[in-house]
Amino acid sequence: MRIAIDTHTHTVASGHAYSTVYELAQGARKRHLKGFVLTDRGTHPYHFSNLRILPERMCGVRFYRGIEANIVDTAGGLDLADEYLSQLDFAYAGLHELCFAPSDEATNTKALVAALANPLADAVSHPGNPVYPANMREVAQAAKEYGKAIEINNGSFRVRTGSYDRCAEFARICLETATLVVCGSDAHYWEDVGRLDKAIALLKELRMPSGQVINATTASFEAFLARRKAEKEASRA
Ligand SMILES: [Zn+2]
Ligand SMILES: [Zn+2]
Repeated sequence: MRIAIDTHTHTVASGHAYSTVYELAQGARKRHLKGFVLTDRGTHPYHFSNLRILPERMCGVRFYRGIEANIVDTAGGLDLADEYLSQLDFAYAGLHELCFAPSDEATNTKALVAALANPLADAVSHPGNPVYPANMREVAQAAKEYGKAIEINNGSFRVRTGSYDRCAEFARICLETATLVVCGSDAHYWEDVGRLDKAIALLKELRMPSGQVINATTASFEAFLARRKAEKEASRA
C-alpha cells in the first residue's frame, strides 16, 4: 500500500499551522509524493476563491485546491458558502471544537452523516476522533451511500489521544462494507506532509485493497475527483 497524494495539509492561512504552500510542496517532493491537497480551514472566503492563481504543479508535484470545512450544525452546514466550495477540487468536512461543541453519540453521528450528505463534501476528516464519539457503522454507511470517503488521519495518532482503536475500527467497517477510504497526514508543518506511516501500516495490516483507497494512486484520485466534479455540478444545476 502506497499513497500518492496527501489529501490533508495546512498552511499558515489556517492560523494554527506554520508553513507556506511552497514549503508544503517541498515536503511533498521530499517524501516522493505525486501531489498534495491544500486543505486550510477557518479562513476568509477570498483565500479559497483566489487559489486559482496557484500553479497546478509546484516543486515537481501536483497541487490540488481544497478545504477542510468546519461542520457547523447537524443539517449538513459547512462554514464556507457553496459558491466557493464548488470551485475546489476536494473538500473535507470535519468536526472541530470551536465550531461544533462535542455532543452525545446520536448528535455527533447526525452531524457527520448530514455532512456526508452535503453534495459539496467529498470526505469526513478524522471521524475517529474520540472527542466526538459517533456510530461508526451509520457514518460509514452514509459515506458508502453517497460515494464519499472516510479519512484515516495519520496526525490523529499523535495529537488526538485515543484515536488509534477507533480509527482501526472505522477502517475495519470500511473494509467489510466496501466503503471508500482516504488517507491524510493532517500536516501543520512542511516536514509532516506525506507522513502517513501509521495509517498505511493499519491499512496494510487489514489488507485493505488499494482500489478502495481513493488517494493510493494519482489515477484513482483523479478518477474520484472527476466523478465528484460531475456529481457536484449536477447537484447545482
Ligand atoms: Zn481537522
Ligand atoms: Zn486538518
